[in-house]
Amino acid sequence: MKRGNVDLYTNAMVREVTTDGDGLATGVVYVNTLDMQEYHILGRTVVLGASACETARLLLNSKSNWYPDGLANGSGLIGRYLHDSTGAGRSAIVPALIDRDRYNEDGARGIHVYSPWWLDNSQLDFPRGYHLEFGGGMGMPLYGVGFGMDSMRQHITDEFGNPSKNGGYGTGLKKDIYKLYGSTIGVVGRGESIPQYSNYCEIDPDTVDKYGIPVLRFHYQWTEHELKQARHMQETFEELLTSLGGIPLGEKPGADSQYGLEAPGRIIHEVGTTRMGDDPGSSVLNKYAQAHECKNLFVVDAGQFVSQADKNPTWTIMALSWRTSDYILDQMKQGNL
Ligand SMILES: Cc1cc2nc3c(=O)[nH]c(=O)nc-3n(C[C@H](O)[C@H](O)[C@H](O)COP(=O)(O)OP(=O)(O)OC[C@H]3O[C@@H](n4cnc5c(N)ncnc54)[C@H](O)[C@@H]3O)c2cc1C
Repeated sequence: MKRGNVDLYTNAMVREVTTDGDGLATGVVYVNTLDMQEYHILGRTVVLGASACETARLLLNSKSNWYPDGLANGSGLIGRYLHDSTGAGRSAIVPALIDRDRYNEDGARGIHVYSPWWLDNSQLDFPRGYHLEFGGGMGMPLYGVGFGMDSMRQHITDEFGNPSKNGGYGTGLKKDIYKLYGSTIGVVGRGESIPQYSNYCEIDPDTVDKYGIPVLRFHYQWTEHELKQARHMQETFEELLTSLGGIPLGEKPGADSQYGLEAPGRIIHEVGTTRMGDDPGSSVLNKYAQAHECKNLFVVDAGQFVSQADKNPTWTIMALSWRTSDYILDQMKQGNL
């Protein structure tokens, strides 16, 4: 930008990628969100990084004679294999932490607890795996601290050693909150789900957003792999929490609640909608995130993921987009783009 080589368009809601008579990308059409008018910007190469679902939406909305089912969608796979991380959690109160001394625990958050996997994978009844993230401690109290006292008071006594009464207000309530503060810990699992052809997003033919652009609708079911993983998570959480002297809070989620497995999309790690691969019949992009069918079109978000391990996706998105950037420069220098 300092060198004047970048034109930055803000308040621009892209509707579609445009193509020419040879099927090459020519630019994008966007709606200016201030004047609600449509504009067309031309480009030698189009790079989409709108996030996995939005990029699928853009490509599916980019129809032409050359691409009747959406741009670069000859395989029919745009939107397919959408997948999110699995997620479940449990918390416990730890009596040893009740009414402990106060000190500053800022900076020592649970996210720093290193937890290498300790089980034998061959004994698991589901594929792949998950990692654990811990929470707790005496961070700055947030709005909402002290709620749920009716159920939490059972774990403490008053100054005479008697059960702390339910209800209350004023000094007594403050004392009880003070005692309980920092005495709960939580553990969540984040795991790898298995990408499925049958899990997908597509254009909703009946709904547009406020810019008149058709929106997505979603079809997504967890399979028995994720359910078994969540069951295993719950067993692990309970074993961990009780082994350290904690009393798990709430009921252990069972089959009726899918073992506490969060709804698809809830962990916000959506990937897979424009998967990469060597075979144009079974993938949308090649290994450089270049569309098989449209050589000057690239996707640098998590649409290109074929799987996402159990890890949060963003570092990998950044690494892959760096690699794609190098490839685009190289191809431009060689005159291929
Ligand atoms: C609350 C929350 C917590 C998260 N925590 C983590 C975490 O701890 N670790 C981790 O790895 N990941 C985390 N994620 C996921 C992470 O944010 C995403 O994986 C990542 O941001 C995706 O990067 P991206 O560049 O593909 O898309 P985005 O970051 O979503 O960027 C896409 C950009 O494109 C723009 N855009 C979209 N559509 C259009 C359009 N039609 N026209 C013009 N512009 C458009 C958007 O405004 C946005 O600026 C979290 C997500 C959320 C919501």
